Amino acid sequence: MDYALQRPDKGYREKLKWLMFLRVLFSTLLLGSTIVLQVGDSPPPAAPPLRLLYGLIAGIFILSILYALMLSRVKRHTLFAYVQILIDTVIVTVILFVTGSLPSVFSFLYLVVIIYSSILLPIRATIVIAAVCSIQFGIVVDLEYYGLISPFGLQENLQVSGYPWNQVLYKILVTMTACFAVAFLSSFLSEQVRRTRTELHYMEDQVKRVEKMAAVGELAAGLAHEIKNPLASLSGSIQMLREDVRFDPDHDRLMQIILREADRLSSLVNNFLLYARPPASKEEAIELDTSLVDTVELFEKDATKNGRIAVTKTIQPGIWVSMDPVHLRQILWNLLLNAAEAIDDQGVINIEMYEEKGPYACIKVTDNGCGMTTEQLKSIFAPFFTTKPHGTGLGLSIVHNILEAYGSRLSVESETARGTTFTLQFRQIDPLGVLPT
Ligand code: ADP
Ligand code: MG
Repeated sequence: MDYALQRPDKGYREKLKWLMFLRVLFSTLLLGSTIVLQVGDSPPPAAPPLRLLYGLIAGIFILSILYALMLSRVKRHTLFAYVQILIDTVIVTVILFVTGSLPSVFSFLYLVVIIYSSILLPIRATIVIAAVCSIQFGIVVDLEYYGLISPFGLQENLQVSGYPWNQVLYKILVTMTACFAVAFLSSFLSEQVRRTRTELHYMEDQVKRVEKMAAVGELAAGLAHEIKNPLASLSGSIQMLREDVRFDPDHDRLMQIILREADRLSSLVNNFLLYARPPASKEEAIELDTSLVDTVELFEKDATKNGRIAVTKTIQPGIWVSMDPVHLRQILWNLLLNAAEAIDDQGVINIEMYEEKGPYACIKVTDNGCGMTTEQLKSIFAPFFTTKPHGTGLGLSIVHNILEAYGSRLSVESETARGTTFTLQFRQIDPLGVLPT
């Protein structure tokens, strides 16, 4: 995958500008200092090797001006960088050729080209560049070794043909290995940097979104709070009217509808406030089995099931956790309610509580109701996600919020038409000092 193309192009263009600027700067400095050194030495200022160096500097300047002119017009920046880097490898080869290929101090320039290639190009392209560098180096040294091109070294005594063949081969192999090693290593590092940066961008976006959500949530919570009082007055007034007004079955039916809907609205508002502004928790050590049994018993008495649902429970006593009992009840209640609502006709809800290594306390709530599709599973914790005609979609969001505040875990397994299992995991505490820590 071409990573560079996915990223915003502006940053890439900046990088290209830097490359072009540094190329001019360093080639002027490097080649300029070489010329100064040589002029101070032996050959006259207009000797052929020096003229070639002047030409090279001029060439790099002209190329850079061309690049600068093209930069704003070129659409495919990666390709542009590719071409520039390929031309750079040729420039380095010419520099090596002028400064005496094999013994030249400038062979490190290949590595420099490979390093910035790894910053600008995907890994495969960098490997290609490393190969191109190796091949060019090999060809120049070989041609000089076999005397097919006349050495252009500034110092006549450093001729390749004067070296033993095994040293030539050794130097070529070392250079090639270095090229590939640097290509892999710096590509790897650049890739790492790119990944980290992408992740950072993603997280920044996430944080912004969360901040915005929090602001909207605060607003909605304020609104919900304001709705509570007028709603209570409304249903209170209707109730009084209902008692006072002369009995008329039609009117009574209408008033019942008003009351029922006001109830629903009020439970929505309350649930929403519970979700958006959970009451400050008062943590205390609670014995899980008694709390669990209490809530389950209350639930069994609740009218929603009308005896159509059997509840079975397996409970292990003596497990303690630290949390607000109101929160625990809220969580269990929401899960049990969902389980009951998932069961159409007759069904079973199984509650299981057991210990796990950690030490953790786990509670499993299993139903054999309608179950969920994988698509549904992805959204169930989102506020207001519901598949029920009169659902609020807040039950599981509240559960999730509460558990998050305690750092507890919740997992779900579900299969359509077979049922669902919610598993809660709390960290155990040790009020009596008997548990291993
Ligand atoms: P609500 O119950 O108001 O719809 P919840 O947040 O409690 O909101 O649940 C969200 C959705 O998750 C439900 O509408 C339902 O589709 C699904 N769901 C939750 N628990 C179960 C369960 N035990 N079995 C099947 N579906 C479930
Ligand atoms: Mg629910």
